Amino acid sequence: MENIQTVSDTNQAEIQEIFKSQQQRQYETGRSTAAERIAKLKRFHQAISDYTPEIRQALYDDFRKHPSETDLTEIYCITGEIKHAVRHLKRWMKPNRVATPIALLGSGSYIHYEPKGVVLIIAPWNFPLNLTFGPLVSAISAGNCVMVKPSELTPHTSRIMKKIIDSLFDPDEIALIEGGVETSQALLALPFNHIFFTGAPAIGKIVMEAASKHLASVTLELGGKSPTIVDETASVKTAARRIAWGKFINNGQTCIAPDYLFVHKKIKDTFTEQLHKNLEELYSAEPEKSESYCRMVNNRHFNRVKSYVDEAVSDGAKIISGGVYENDQNYISPSLLTDVKPDSALMQEEIFGPVLPINFYEDLQEPLQIIRSKEIPLALYIYSNSRKNIKQIIRNTRAGGTVINHSVVHFFQNNLPFGGSNNSGIGKSHGFFGFHAFSNARGIMKQILPLSGIDLMMPPYTDMKKKLIDLTVKWF
Ligand code: NAD
Repeated sequence: MENIQTVSDTNQAEIQEIFKSQQQRQYETGRSTAAERIAKLKRFHQAISDYTPEIRQALYDDFRKHPSETDLTEIYCITGEIKHAVRHLKRWMKPNRVATPIALLGSGSYIHYEPKGVVLIIAPWNFPLNLTFGPLVSAISAGNCVMVKPSELTPHTSRIMKKIIDSLFDPDEIALIEGGVETSQALLALPFNHIFFTGAPAIGKIVMEAASKHLASVTLELGGKSPTIVDETASVKTAARRIAWGKFINNGQTCIAPDYLFVHKKIKDTFTEQLHKNLEELYSAEPEKSESYCRMVNNRHFNRVKSYVDEAVSDGAKIISGGVYENDQNYISPSLLTDVKPDSALMQEEIFGPVLPINFYEDLQEPLQIIRSKEIPLALYIYSNSRKNIKQIIRNTRAGGTVINHSVVHFFQNNLPFGGSNNSGIGKSHGFFGFHAFSNARGIMKQILPLSGIDLMMPPYTDMKKKLIDLTVKWF
């Protein structure tokens, strides 16, 4: 594959023209039946299968991602989301009848999910295919016209995604717009009906501000620091393996990666030993030679993470594993640190790289207090076999999602809402929740009988009507 370094911005006139044509097309697309949308999704699925070798190559060229990791964490997420939507879309689109209160007897009501209209999806680079096409599946299922902007930092994947979209859809229905911040801002200036943004909290604020100009609704899938607690009852070997996998997959560049650990002091030595062992099993004793271990996306992110570690070490932190760098390859070996100060960047900023600070605790109240002092995380992981501890942790913290005795895997569960809360996000995605995010739940009520209870309560307020209103307020 040709080595592409950058993505060029799309010019504003072209963006505006596509937006206008989508506005004109939106009702035609919105009227599509479940069968028509399913046919679109199936064509999308087929194209992803056809282009799989090129997708694998693109992800390898962007950050040396192993083809099997691409299959599991990029392709499977999309094909899984498509299959789920194909299976359930007819039911999601059906009018959803609701009960009638006594005061409204004689009427019937239902919820009709209509498309938002013309929507914008802005995606990040860390799972470039998954996080661009995943929301697109939901937007198509809900019957929208869509403009999608992938990240400029993964140009090979952006190129192949554009090829796929151009081969499948008319731009007046679905258009992939390549470009960086300038393109993103040109798009954000347009009066979209909904904006679905995945990225950093700081940029999420810019997106929300832009959306407020047109009162566009938003879904913000943001990031943050996802804590992991391993208590004294946890199955140490399993916990170590699953944490090592969840943390170092995609080189730690995962929004829901375990960001920092709290391990009970009783299992301190066995746990750290197991974590070492599992890192070696996953990526060998020489991870720089392992084909399964990918790289930081670029030198800026490499230097950012390295500077966090340097700062922590100069402040007394100990590297108990890893700490090896290769600047020209954006390579950081899987690194474990202890004795990291609470006010260090490693414990304050989202790490988004292959470095894991480990804290030890004696009383569960200690991690709970620290977690609650920070922004609400996107995920919180609990490794424990104590129902009491699990309940205590869940009831005394908040998080976008939680997995008990595993890491990261809730992303694959399309029956659960996926997303954060406040700093880690607004709104939910995946499965029905993704369809819902791109739909307006329109409440429709129909008066069926000639007379409604409310008709009897209209002015003038005679004694009889006053009594009737009184009864209604008291009893119905
Ligand atoms: P980012 O916010 O820098 O970029 C995301 C998108 O926003 C890109 O398409 C980029 O072109 C655009 N953008 C960047 N600056 C902009 C600006 N000033 N104005 C308008 N648009 C702008 O994020 P990233 O570095 O690509 O991704 C990493 C972040 O995303 C992390 O914080 C991570 O936790 C988060 N993330 C969240 C999820 C989730 O599902 N919640 C998933 C993946 C990543």
